[in-house]
Amino acid sequence: MADIRDIADKLVSTGELTRDEIVILLENRTPEIRQDLAKKASSVARKYYGNKVYVRGLIEFTNYCKNDCYYCGIRCGNKNAERYRLTPEEISECASYGYGLGFRTIVLQGGEDAFYTDDMMGRIIKTIKAEHPDVAVTLSIGEKSYESYKAFFDAGADRYLLRHETADFGHYAKLHPANLSPANRQNCLYNLKKIGFQTGAGFMVGSPYQTYENIADDLLFLKKLDPEMIGIGPFIPHKDTVFADFKAGELELTLYLLSIIRLMLPTVLLPATTALGTIAPNGRELGILAGANVIMPNLSPLGVRKKYALYDNKICTGEEAAECMECLKRRVGSIGYEIVTDRGDNIKYLTGLTKEGR
Ligand code: SAH
Repeated sequence: MADIRDIADKLVSTGELTRDEIVILLENRTPEIRQDLAKKASSVARKYYGNKVYVRGLIEFTNYCKNDCYYCGIRCGNKNAERYRLTPEEISECASYGYGLGFRTIVLQGGEDAFYTDDMMGRIIKTIKAEHPDVAVTLSIGEKSYESYKAFFDAGADRYLLRHETADFGHYAKLHPANLSPANRQNCLYNLKKIGFQTGAGFMVGSPYQTYENIADDLLFLKKLDPEMIGIGPFIPHKDTVFADFKAGELELTLYLLSIIRLMLPTVLLPATTALGTIAPNGRELGILAGANVIMPNLSPLGVRKKYALYDNKICTGEEAAECMECLKRRVGSIGYEIVTDRGDNIKYLTGLTKEGR
């Protein structure tokens, strides 16, 4: 069996690992290896992005959803969820407020809600882009047809986040009802790339029934897809879901995976997620120190924040976005990083770097 030290060295020097090597790296991790990879990963992030941390203003504009994902608090089967929708005017006001705070990326996220037709989404995107031409618009509204994605892109959307959730089809079936297909979700990701979106995939760490082999397959899927952004965060149970009694994903494993992902895909835009900040008070700072370089503060109007509950005890649901920004600037500054007012595109787009970023 290969020595874990050799595997870690191979990861650092080539960014390529086999499935077996990833499993060994996960199974046999030690505090020393974790610290070493975190150091290497954060220096790779600094090589490409300096000490900059990019911020994305997240507008959670609807918590209506037609899907029934077993882990998610806004699943259609949750009769206790108090549903809301923001009007197009509320969404663009929110985006303008965020612009004033320095956000140059606006993320529109929601459940899969047919109330917002493609035309309506197109108008919302066009309004934001017309009012703020230097803003990148990111969508995170689930699985749609090629034609719908193309219409969003033509309306001016720049990026799209769609976590693949898990690359293993058997595991996918344990997390989702049978009408949701992992093949379709992955196909959506390839369509998004083909259309020209800067695309984000990702998965939850410690989701129910997840094995190290599943994680290895997730990492290999990400390496193959080569997305511009990767979102990973711990699974956190929500009381009104099928998985209410499962335990949350671990901080330490999430940080370790952030480092491994940074080393496998050196230029990727990698958020220290809200879920990471929820399982540990300094989770997002630790995420940056492990190789992450993005934070996605909540820009949703205060009145709806608590209603967009994907999981329990979510942080930053009680403060105005302006307060959150001040707090984040302090937190990020305290570890030697700086929040910047910048679109924060993947450096590949700006320099034509190759897949490996080498
Ligand atoms: N409807 C959109 C947005 C989903 S919410 C879509 O389908 O992409 C964004 C992400 O939150 C999901 O992709 C999922 O990975 C994560 N999420 C959902 N429930 C969660 C939970 N209980 N704990 C942690 N993350 C969760």
